[in-house]
Amino acid sequence: VEDISMEDLVRRWQRAAERASEEQVRVIQLPDGLYATSSSQPLRAYRLHRESGGWACECVANEMHHLPCKHLAALADVLDLDVLSEMRVDWPPAGVKAAA
Ligand SMILES: [Zn+2]
Repeated sequence: VEDISMEDLVRRWQRAAERASEEQVRVIQLPDGLYATSSSQPLRAYRLHRESGGWACECVANEMHHLPCKHLAALADVLDLDVLSEMRVDWPPAGVKAAA
């Protein structure tokens, strides 16, 4: 079960990276920190910050559900981070655990 779960997480990160690429997510440095912006949503910017659990994003997927997101995938690409150990992600997600 642990291996299937880990494969699933790896696939999630792969999809997040694909979406980051398709939507041209960029990581930019502003005076108050790092942000991820997307060409498909030019008016939105999501702040990226490091906390005790790892790098975190303020989008719904990661802020509320602690799931992989395209913004953190873009950050991992820029900073050459290991998504499996350096991101704030709860896996398997609480909803999946409850359903199982
Ligand atoms: Zn995000």
